[in-house]
Amino acid sequence: MTSLPTGRLRDLPSVDRVLKSPLAAAAVERFGQQAATRAIRDALEEARAACRTGAAVPEPSDLAADALVRLKTAERPSLRPVFNLTGTVLHTNLGRALIAGEALEAMHAAMGEAVALEFNIGTGRRGERDDHVRALICEPTGAEDATVVNNNAAAVLLVLNTLSLGREAVVSRGELIEIGGSFRMPDIMTRAGAKLVEVGTTNRTHPRDYLSAIGPATGLLFKVHTSNYRIDGFTAEVSARELSAIAKERGVPLIHDLGSGTLIDLTQYGLPHEPTVGEAIADGADLVTFSGDKLLGGPQAGFIVGRKDLLAEVNRNPMKRALRVDKLRLAALEATLKLYRNPDRLVERLPTLRLLARPAIDIAAQARRLAPVLFNVLGDEFAVDVADCRSQVGSGAMPLDTVPSAGLAISHQSGSGQALEALAAALRALPIPVIGRIEKQALILDLRCLEDEASLAANLASFSPGGGGAVA
Ligand SMILES: *Cc1c(COP(=O)(O)O)cnc(C)c1O
Repeated sequence: MTSLPTGRLRDLPSVDRVLKSPLAAAAVERFGQQAATRAIRDALEEARAACRTGAAVPEPSDLAADALVRLKTAERPSLRPVFNLTGTVLHTNLGRALIAGEALEAMHAAMGEAVALEFNIGTGRRGERDDHVRALICEPTGAEDATVVNNNAAAVLLVLNTLSLGREAVVSRGELIEIGGSFRMPDIMTRAGAKLVEVGTTNRTHPRDYLSAIGPATGLLFKVHTSNYRIDGFTAEVSARELSAIAKERGVPLIHDLGSGTLIDLTQYGLPHEPTVGEAIADGADLVTFSGDKLLGGPQAGFIVGRKDLLAEVNRNPMKRALRVDKLRLAALEATLKLYRNPDRLVERLPTLRLLARPAIDIAAQARRLAPVLFNVLGDEFAVDVADCRSQVGSGAMPLDTVPSAGLAISHQSGSGQALEALAAALRALPIPVIGRIEKQALILDLRCLEDEASLAANLASFSPGGGGAVA
């Protein structure tokens, strides 16, 4: 039996003694007696374990300092801001679109006040939530009517449930995609109550495939923008326009899920073409669904736009109530959509577009300014090189088209992957975590999404190789 060094353990101060130190008083003042006492107990617990393995007995002031760090760490928001240097502009795990300043102000104003959410100020009668955004979304897309729900997954679910509950929804095998997480088209269609009718093959679907599948039980034809992958080679797809002609001839609605969708032609900003909502409407879709927080650049939301009579049915579906959006998001959406009314200033005011449109040459200049800053912080174990790289739009838009960008490529002199993993962890431990990506023996920090260069530099000053960044 090993005997514990009980003499040392007995030297550990009591909770009461730690509470008497000035730092503990500060902790009590800021966090309250109960929380401070608990934090001191936790600090003592850890010190006791450390002493058992031979560590020195800490002073009461050390324990109080430890408790204060614990309290500050616990107080930090869980939803923390980070530097997104992944190179993916619309990163789903990092919250997708950044909200425009105008939308932030609108949300802020709506937050603490009563607002005319479902109230017609002119008549004094009940209004509709959709009134705040209907015209703003119909105008640039040419749609007759529009509604907004929680996200695009909800938009798809609601449309399918409304128009194909207990009926057949016809979709090409080449479009039965998984978006990520647990969003798989076939599952969502089944959950919506539709009977899935798959037509064609993975790589080729023809008009005759749809034609032979349509019958008396058909509720709708469903076309999905295969956001996150593309089939190359021996392929055939029935275009939205052709499919619309088939749908009209057979008297069934065509639903087009665009996923990201965009309201404007992105090629004018030097970006690859992404189908616009207006094009999908012009090609003859009866309803189009798309996200609010992808290329549109607003808060999380899902739009359903198109035929008025079909939207009336959608709005009568009791599920609509469970999927609706709140006043904050409507405020942000209204303000975001209003930015589109002034195309000349859109790129400057809409963060998503601003970031996507940043010329690689500007980003490279930024990388040259930051390389020495980072090198000084990391020390000469690491090489920091300015490097060309490619950014992704993300969230399924333009899956294979990347945008030229620049960044910092950090490599360890040993070429060790472990050292890079440790560095990535240390960067994540900064007061504002820095998130990059590891690629071929280097940690790449793509600077496309870095606007506040000074803030990154200040943040790096807290760098410590072992992690454990300072807590303010
Ligand atoms: C992203 C996407 C969805 C889901 O949209 P959310 O707004 O994330 O719910 C649905 N369909 C397609 C094609 C998508 O790209």
